[in-house]
Amino acid sequence: QPAEGCKSSRFAAITNIRAPSEHRDDAPSRGRLLARVHPDDRAAVQRTLQDSLHGAPRYDMEYRLLPAGGAPRWISSHGSVEFDEQGRPLRVRGVSLDITARKQAELELLQKQKEVTHLARVAMLGELSGALAHELNQPLTAILSNAQAARRFLAQPEPDVAEVAEILIDIVAEDKRAGDIIQRLRRLFGKQDTPRQRLDARELADGVIRLVRNDVIQHGLSVRAELGGEPLAIQADPVQLQQVLINLLMNACDAQAAPPASDGAIVLRCARDGDAALLSVIDHGAGIAPELLARIFDPFITTKARGMGLGLSICRSIAAAHQGTLWAHNNPDGGASFHLRLPLADAP
Ligand code: ADP
Repeated sequence: QPAEGCKSSRFAAITNIRAPSEHRDDAPSRGRLLARVHPDDRAAVQRTLQDSLHGAPRYDMEYRLLPAGGAPRWISSHGSVEFDEQGRPLRVRGVSLDITARKQAELELLQKQKEVTHLARVAMLGELSGALAHELNQPLTAILSNAQAARRFLAQPEPDVAEVAEILIDIVAEDKRAGDIIQRLRRLFGKQDTPRQRLDARELADGVIRLVRNDVIQHGLSVRAELGGEPLAIQADPVQLQQVLINLLMNACDAQAAPPASDGAIVLRCARDGDAALLSVIDHGAGIAPELLARIFDPFITTKARGMGLGLSICRSIAAAHQGTLWAHNNPDGGASFHLRLPLADAP
């Protein structure tokens, strides 16, 4: 509002901002204005007014005004001081707007952004700890059952020391695998490249079968390797791929052990598929529920009472990190098949 006509203060434009409850005869003055400005904003307003009086071309300020008995209002003031020929301040021309609603919206937005950032962090932490718990479960269970077996052997009148020594070797290997898993997950979540090495997909599959054989037997099931004749060289992180195949085999065990339990060996097949190696895990369980088929690779999708629903989503990101693909379908004669397709190292 222009200050012309208001003789008592050059800053009438500013002081004319008043809460609806205030009266117009509330004589404006610089001191009165400053007294109504929020204490935290007062020094800045004072500085801006001083600068304007000493020749600053224009003023722009945002501050809180404290109307008598009301909630603070946010005010945005813009304008300039006009001077006479002697350089004395003559009047203020400017405008002051009540921007309380906009400020509140901005503050709410800021608050929401903070919440979203926090939630994203929590989700990331949840995912990381969930993934760690999920993947470490297997080696930790193996270490526990091996340690219990060793205690049973040692409790016998004539312990078989050679057997215990072998169990200890297994424990050390499982412990090392747990360490490798932690390293691998840190790389996965840290988005670092993982070290690749040239390896034969069939040897990898064979090694995995040896690792899971005890688990499979404990489920009352069996696993059969169909590894084909020709070597299939791929560039891969062996620990990551081991983890994918172990996950798929353990899922197959769960599917096949669930009632009505079905016999028939779970198959781990290795074959060439054009320029790629195709690793398949085929089971004779109940198959994947049709409504879940499109979602089983999403995180936190599980049908198991104690499942976390993270295994397949991790497996798929590992496959993608190897320029490979992982997909699933139900078999025409029952059960499900999961296929991991990885480019051959020498593929053009
Ligand atoms: P989790 O094993 O913790 O449930 P996964 O991501 O490994 O997590 O699996 C997600 C879901 O996919 C399982 O809960 C199950 O419903 C389904 N699923 C996975 N593998 C099979 C399979 N071989 N046969 C049938 N359903 C499966």
